[in-house]
Amino acid sequence: MSTHLQVRGLTAGYRRSTVLHDVSAEVRPGGWLGIIGPNGSGKSTLLKAVAGVLGHRGEVLVDGRRLAGLSSRERARAVGYAPQIPQLPIGLTVTDYVLLGRTPHLGLLGREGRGDLDVVRSLLERLDLVHYADRALATLSGGERQRAVLARALAQQAGILLLDEPTTGLDVGHAQALLDLVDDLRAELGTTVVTTLHDLTLAAQYAERLLLLDEGRVAGAGPPEEVLTAQALSERYSARVAVLRTADGAPVIAPVRG
Ligand code: ADP
Ligand code: MG
Repeated sequence: MSTHLQVRGLTAGYRRSTVLHDVSAEVRPGGWLGIIGPNGSGKSTLLKAVAGVLGHRGEVLVDGRRLAGLSSRERARAVGYAPQIPQLPIGLTVTDYVLLGRTPHLGLLGREGRGDLDVVRSLLERLDLVHYADRALATLSGGERQRAVLARALAQQAGILLLDEPTTGLDVGHAQALLDLVDDLRAELGTTVVTTLHDLTLAAQYAERLLLLDEGRVAGAGPPEEVLTAQALSERYSARVAVLRTADGAPVIAPVRG
């Protein structure tokens, strides 16, 4: 199940403007790459291009095969994607919505089996959504909806998981539970993970390597402690921050009032 992801010379954008310029990155099978960078630096655009929902120049290779050459079913098994701003079928219940994530695994009849329901139920438990299983998405709070979107992407059990700002709208406990769950999948199934995270402390604590984007170009790449220096953050984010450590050495990026 472990999948190797390579992005080579990726250039992408929208009708009027090119947003990403010649971005290259690599994630080892079972690795976790965190994409960081200021607002508008191209983090979501990069994830969309890798997910195959935005045209681009350059190459996205999954285990050495061009993503563009895969069938849609192969692609859905290879790459799961939770967008930052998803289009939600708000009339669906949480269970039915998360079950959509199983689509690439269903047989010819297209009917879900016990195994699919078990996957969904266990994700609802892990993401604290059991109480909402039969509720329509329309009736959920922002954080509950966000967790449902992630549950759907996780239900896909793809080799590569692309999560765009997965902790947005989650309180600190639910954010940690979600990131712990993603990390467990990495350990149990060897899932390869790419997340954009605006919270630099969470990025530093969970991602194995970081890619810092600035105006659509790679401004830094490497282990968190190398990328997240006070100087780089002041230069790229125009921010005053201190890079602290918890008692057991985990990095904490703290804003400092001037
Ligand atoms: P980030 O996720 O790093 O905050 P995005 O990748 O969403 O940044 O956006 C990068 C740039 O592309 C921004 O200037 C944004 O305004 C622009 N952009 C994003 N989505 C679209 C779109 N659908 N059409 C046109 N421009 C877009
Ligand atoms: Mg974004």
